[in-house]
Amino acid sequence: MSMFYKPQQYKIADRAMENFIDEDEIWSILNDNSKPTKEEVRAVIQQSLAKNRLTLQETAVLLNADDPELVEEIKAAARLLKQRIYGKRIVLFAPLYIGNLCTNDCSYCGFRITNIKQERVTLNKKDIVEQVTALEDSGHKRLILVYGEHPRYNADFIAESVKVVYDVKHKNGEIRRVNINAAPLGIEGFKTVKDSGIGTYQIFQETYHTETYLKVHKSGSKRNYDWRITGLDRAQEAGIDDVGIGTLLGLYDWRFEIMGLLRHVNHFEVVYNVGPHTISFPRLQPASGFELDERYVVSDEDFTKLVAIIRLAVPYTGLILTARESAEIRDEVLQYGVSQIDGGTNIELKGYTDKKDEQDLDHEQFEISDNRTLNEVIEELVNSDYIPSFCTACYRLGRTGEHFMEFSVPGFIKRYCQPNAMLTLAEYLEDYAPPATKAKGYKLIDDELADFKDAELKKSVEARLAKIRSGKRDIYY
Ligand code: SAM
Ligand code: SF4
Repeated sequence: MSMFYKPQQYKIADRAMENFIDEDEIWSILNDNSKPTKEEVRAVIQQSLAKNRLTLQETAVLLNADDPELVEEIKAAARLLKQRIYGKRIVLFAPLYIGNLCTNDCSYCGFRITNIKQERVTLNKKDIVEQVTALEDSGHKRLILVYGEHPRYNADFIAESVKVVYDVKHKNGEIRRVNINAAPLGIEGFKTVKDSGIGTYQIFQETYHTETYLKVHKSGSKRNYDWRITGLDRAQEAGIDDVGIGTLLGLYDWRFEIMGLLRHVNHFEVVYNVGPHTISFPRLQPASGFELDERYVVSDEDFTKLVAIIRLAVPYTGLILTARESAEIRDEVLQYGVSQIDGGTNIELKGYTDKKDEQDLDHEQFEISDNRTLNEVIEELVNSDYIPSFCTACYRLGRTGEHFMEFSVPGFIKRYCQPNAMLTLAEYLEDYAPPATKAKGYKLIDDELADFKDAELKKSVEARLAKIRSGKRDIYY
């Protein structure tokens, strides 16, 4: 059992590769805690500040806390917890869309089969090399490859594209971690993809509510709720122990979806002894031919609150926010617990080389809101005292899954993650940053060093930084 999880009894017992969602149970937990008192909310916040994983009941208390004073307290606690656990690091990555052929009919997605206006593109080897070269030239080290669901994008195809990406080395650039966002596979397929050396495999359930799920997934294999919800169990069975879950906010009641996410976390902890590596909670964005259901639109106010609640509920899980959100929202929720963001994102197929001035929904999956370049994102992070990190050390040293959980304790982050963030930032500053960013970045690194309490570690980091300045690369703890 994971050291952080208090097992709970649910009506549907957790078994490998079986659906575990009981909608009535989730609703009854939400309804039983619908009017929490101030004392109850504060008691839950204290649980969380003691770094305990919250139960579904405790999470429901926070989800139902509407008093602005209490919401502020929830956000303040999330800020504190984030600082204590994650320090100032923010991990940066970029998405790379490999192909948008799709046999599914997800009503919200521009790639759906019925969107005949969509231009269909699949990157060939040369295209991938060109895109990855452009991404490396901007400073990226971590990518997530994104695929529509189509017989052509089978496990062999995915594995092959991963290998192509890892083989692209341009100047000092290289991609050191490739994550995947693609359809659920069978166990054998997941094994093939694992062997190509991936980091995390992400599959978003989109909505945990079956009726809504069937309403928005009208045809194709994605319509099978059980196949999807058990997808990452099969990934685990295949040995992929870094998995990413997610919900698409705006399809159904957001409180229910957050409870679904946490129920999913609990399922992994019981069955596989380790929670998901990351959680994503994208808000629905406009897509070609798609109308939002006004009832379920998640306001900025609710969105920022729910990010804080997820942070409090699962203190040790990475939280991902993407360029779907505006720069303002991103800056706010970074404080409450988001640990990874994308930078310089382009979700158009071949978009990193064929840049267009205007977004064009007939060529994209949906609209993005943050159009800053990677360097702009980095500069703004540095201005706000965050350390942009391109670190990929853990999975390369086998610190994944259950082993990662053992390590992801506060001392570990100070000893390893913080220095690795500084080292990868220094690489970026040497190889890609314009002079102004370079000066600011090194000032931040110096300020951090000045704060180090451990003299030995400080000396060791200084020595490694000197090596990077003299041209050595890829040094990590
Ligand atoms: N085809 C695979 C799948 O559906 O799982 C992976 C790629 S799909 C393009 C990645 C994710 O994009 C989906 O899981 C969904 O959550 C998200 N997405 C789709 N349409 C969106 C929209 N209009 N706004 C925000 N996110 C969207
Ligand atoms: Fe296809 Fe994924 Fe878009 Fe659905 S969300 S239409 S499966 S690419």
